[in-house]
Amino acid sequence: MIDIALKTAEAGYLTRRLVESTQNLAIISSDCGTSTSVLFVENDLPLIKRVYGRYLAQDISGKKGEIILTHNTLLLEKEIKIIQENKITEIWAFSPLNCQLVEGICQKCYGLDLSKPGETVAMGTAVGVIAAQSLGEPGTQLTMRTFHRGGITGDEDITQGLPKVKQIFDNVKPNKEEKSILAKANGKIISIEEKIIKQKSDEGKEIIYPLGKKKKVRINLGDMVKKGEKLTGGKIDLEEYLEIVGRDKCQEYIKEEVRKVYDDQGIDINEKHIEIFARQMLSKTEIIDSGGSDYLTSEIVNYQQLVKVNKSLIDNKNPPISFKTIVSSLKDLASYPDSFLAGISFQNTLKSLVNYSLYQPVDYLRGCKENLIAGQLVPVGSGFKERERFQRKTTRKE
Ligand SMILES: [Zn+2]
Repeated sequence: MIDIALKTAEAGYLTRRLVESTQNLAIISSDCGTSTSVLFVENDLPLIKRVYGRYLAQDISGKKGEIILTHNTLLLEKEIKIIQENKITEIWAFSPLNCQLVEGICQKCYGLDLSKPGETVAMGTAVGVIAAQSLGEPGTQLTMRTFHRGGITGDEDITQGLPKVKQIFDNVKPNKEEKSILAKANGKIISIEEKIIKQKSDEGKEIIYPLGKKKKVRINLGDMVKKGEKLTGGKIDLEEYLEIVGRDKCQEYIKEEVRKVYDDQGIDINEKHIEIFARQMLSKTEIIDSGGSDYLTSEIVNYQQLVKVNKSLIDNKNPPISFKTIVSSLKDLASYPDSFLAGISFQNTLKSLVNYSLYQPVDYLRGCKENLIAGQLVPVGSGFKERERFQRKTTRKE
């Protein structure tokens, strides 16, 4: 009884964080113009399931080299059949992960509206809230139990269910004993001793990994290991992983870990919903060197915004900004959104109020929550069209 009561509360709070960290995300453009896409192959999900409802990023050729599907095609039943008939095993498709829009997602990166078969997602669809509902609602069905295996050391990270989802979305940092040691480069393991592992990288550099207490080594002498691979048991520190493998692989990792939790419990969630959260978690960057821009060192800037500024700096032959992507937990995202009304109404109101009054005292009322608070139409769904009409009218008057 107590377990169930706790679970409802926990799952409810998860939903709240999910919704509040993406409530401002809607479909606001037909095409962001991104050239980056994701390579889909078969994993424990069939390839056709993974790409259904996405826009193709590259042409697909048949056995004789003839083009059977052209890029920018939305993959629906008919196209999926062609893919199956030609036994295609790799597909480059667009994904919300790479959408370049600063304040929303574009139709091309999102693709099909999953609730309306056969239709591209409509402008103004609140894809953030939909993603949050899709993950939050079945949250009550996830187990609350944490399992430990591997004797007293508790070396393997086999946390499952709700605690695992929380661990990832909250970006819980493992402590020193729990943390897994990750390979910093591609290369061969040349020595495993009691206290250290040595690796010779492909570039010929020798890397030494000190082993902490009681760590279970997961590799063998002579193994070729890849950058980011676990050398010992334990939990992955997302920040460290991001630094080693980079943005794309880290997004992929977040997505897969969350998907597997739901999948293990028999809950089928479309990958697209989880991609929205992976993108949000890596949406903030910290400025290291402002280059030719007006930003300040250590200022926190939206990643998509920064890419845009950097492109124009390079185009105008100015020095680009150097930056570091940071991992934000859903709580961070919900606590400090661009809107101060949304921020102060999440939790820690007083602290938040002081912060916003100092650093960000203007609210542009772009998201759902802040508009609800202000008693206005939300800028999604029919409210999106209404707002567009209003904007057109006011620009004409001007
Ligand atoms: Zn896009």
